[in-house]
Amino acid sequence: MDIVNTVAEVRQKIKAARFAAKFIGLVPTMGALHAGHGSLITRAVTECDTVVVSIFVNPTQFGPGEDLDRYPRTLETDAKYCEKLGASLIFAPSPEAMYPQPQLAWVDVETLPEGLCGASRPGHFRGVTTVCAKLFNIVQPDFAYFGQKDAQQAVLIQRMVRDLNLPLEIRLCPIVREKDGLALSSRNRYLSQSERKKAVCLFQSLQRCRQLVEGGQRDVSVLRKAMAESFALPEVSIEYIEIVDPETLQEQSEIQDRSLVAVAARVGATRLIDNIEIDLSNLQEKV
Ligand code: AMP
Repeated sequence: MDIVNTVAEVRQKIKAARFAAKFIGLVPTMGALHAGHGSLITRAVTECDTVVVSIFVNPTQFGPGEDLDRYPRTLETDAKYCEKLGASLIFAPSPEAMYPQPQLAWVDVETLPEGLCGASRPGHFRGVTTVCAKLFNIVQPDFAYFGQKDAQQAVLIQRMVRDLNLPLEIRLCPIVREKDGLALSSRNRYLSQSERKKAVCLFQSLQRCRQLVEGGQRDVSVLRKAMAESFALPEVSIEYIEIVDPETLQEQSEIQDRSLVAVAARVGATRLIDNIEIDLSNLQEKV
């Protein structure tokens, strides 16, 4: 497995691989890799001949006062992990390699970034879609792998690919969780021991919602109120509890055939997100 840092190098490696490779897969990440990222890489390795993992803490998706500077950077361990999982190449550019001059061209997806995480992170999704468009153009993969963990990001990226006719397919992977249900995240390492215990409240609120829907509850205001109870803990504050259409991200007032239930909260100073999708046709109704 090679590690390259420049756009020219990755293009050259990919050009060579393309002759031999049937399918090229890309797994975009910000590093500090964990088993959630691992699940994307493993799936890419089973489905593609050449797998590129990009590791880039993208400054344009961080707002002022967010954790850009302290975001964990663990390239050496990440590289060992990628090699063990069978990745072919790591692309780990510096900010200067990705943005050699001030970026004037941006990819903006309309309306979808307005709610959920976008409401408190203005400009975040413009940074995400722009860096992903750049990565797609640099690597030119057949498939790019994303996690359902970042549900709003996944919807935006899929829409960008469709609306701009980008020649690749997005493949989504389910959320990998700790034993107690906490979704794996690079930011979990910020949590103190006591915060770690409380952090499971996001998952518990989602479970509570699912149980209530299984019991026949469909009213979103009732569900949100019940979910909020899971967050009634010291050092925990809710950012949002939303139930939306999984494709348009429009708020629902009643649970529909498909609903995305998404939460964001601060546990201590750490911002965590989680979500589940409820599909009424697959529900274990306990009415
Ligand atoms: P990040 O490094 O946080 O930008 O994440 C890179 C990719 O890994 C994104 O597509 C995430 O949705 C995905 N990812 C992060 N955490 C998880 C998880 N717990 N389960 C599945 N995918 C994840």
